[in-house]
Amino acid sequence: MTITAYCPCPICCGKSDGITSSGTRAKEKQTIAVDPNVIPMGSEVHLEGLGTFIAEDTGGAIKGNRIDIYMDDHTQALLFGIQETKAYLIKGNQRKNLTQDTLL
Ligand SMILES: [Zn+2]
Repeated sequence: MTITAYCPCPICCGKSDGITSSGTRAKEKQTIAVDPNVIPMGSEVHLEGLGTFIAEDTGGAIKGNRIDIYMDDHTQALLFGIQETKAYLIKGNQRKNLTQDTLL
């Protein structure tokens, strides 16, 4: 899974209210933007080495095997760059490896 980061600024989002596409307030270490065709909205997603997040947002550039992590700070988001890691969909005590199941 390709992981990038974004912040609530107009450069990243085209708006600056910090409200996700699902209507929640974006929160650092929690909110990620996903392609809802790959990861259902509201899902708990574990990104290896990065933590566990909730799919609360979407984005025009977030398609297929790509996840965007919300961060409060633009510089931090830029510094994150582009990373590759394994992603798992968490359902109860089950983990589905998204990396293998959703290769495009
Ligand atoms: Zn930004």
